[in-house]
Amino acid sequence: MKIAVLPGDGIGTEIVAEAAKVLGVLRGEGLAIELEYAQLGGAAYDASGDPFPEVTEKLVHQADAVLLGAVGGYQYDTLPRAMRPEQGLLRIRKSLGLFANLRPAVVYPELANASSLKSELVAGLDIMILRELTGDIYFGQPRGIRTLDNGEQQGFDTMMYSESEIRRIAHVGFQIALKRGKKLCSVDKANVLDTSMFWREVITEVAKEYPMVEFSHMLVDNAAMQLVRAPKQFDVIVTGNIFGDILSDEASMLTGSIGMLPSASLDANNKGLFEPCHGSAPDIAGKGIANPLATILSVAMMMRYTFARGDLAQRIEGAVRSVLQQGLRTGDIYQEGMKRVGTVEMGDAVVKALG
Ligand code: NAD
Repeated sequence: MKIAVLPGDGIGTEIVAEAAKVLGVLRGEGLAIELEYAQLGGAAYDASGDPFPEVTEKLVHQADAVLLGAVGGYQYDTLPRAMRPEQGLLRIRKSLGLFANLRPAVVYPELANASSLKSELVAGLDIMILRELTGDIYFGQPRGIRTLDNGEQQGFDTMMYSESEIRRIAHVGFQIALKRGKKLCSVDKANVLDTSMFWREVITEVAKEYPMVEFSHMLVDNAAMQLVRAPKQFDVIVTGNIFGDILSDEASMLTGSIGMLPSASLDANNKGLFEPCHGSAPDIAGKGIANPLATILSVAMMMRYTFARGDLAQRIEGAVRSVLQQGLRTGDIYQEGMKRVGTVEMGDAVVKALG
């Protein structure tokens, strides 16, 4: 398991250090894990003038998987767009051909009252949003701002999906559903958009290859509503880039704790980039109080999706559950009566729970 580790900026270095400890435990048990570090984002810009330098690109291509902390910081906000840390993220995704973005929204029973929804609606929630990451209106051409014949200016973008793009994300969706609750809901806007009508046609065709998966369609406006009305009805949701962008943020908020949410972006061979959903949290960077659990859970996803080691993923997830059951909480998930811990203490507790 050759893993490229990119701590990035802000709390990135702190939380990745804890995730690396978890990998260290597995290595100590005889698993052939190799970690190689490189820079991305603001740290890379500071060191080399480029948020995604060539050495980093070379390393991530050689690796089987990439573990990323987070990028970004106030001090970079005035840089030209091409030099900003977030460009490093976009470029690494593109360079690795990562087209499938997996964002689970899991509510641990211990944290059910952190959600803004009633705890009975979310307790035990375990859904997966699968977002297509490289197509759709975000990348369609032509786009721009033009001047019409009457002199008025007009902004425009192009929504488009090709058959091969829909097929490959559909297959990922069905495969994930097979590994979970065997339910897949495809979300689109087929009552209005031609792109969505075509999406529905193609994915329905692919569904025939997966008779063991319970397959359904839902319009995106309804899906947005159902996610807050009765989120537990879903298992896996597959959708395009723009709808997925919005729905995955909505779903993550069901959990009420951004410091708990991992994510994965995969290529066609399950090679992936694994990172927490949150950013570099410059407001708390360097204070030793960031929650490392989202990054540790990203390692669990790496084991499950890139290395096909669901057993190790479950072990890591079990260790996280165990520290929550012990009442340990970083500030972002703290509730009265619990034990407040810092980043390192939380990481150490997970390592201990891994046994
Ligand atoms: P953020 O996710 O960094 O922070 C939002 C809030 O959540 C902050 O109050 C922060 O303290 C808190 N928070 C986030 N992660 C936490 C954790 N692990 N433990 C405890 N508290 C946590 O979002 P933001 O403030 O909008 O963005 C900050 C920077 O991060 C920006 O430069 C932005 O561009 C970047 N960003 C990067 C990524 C990424 O690397 N994938 C994603 C989002 C934002």
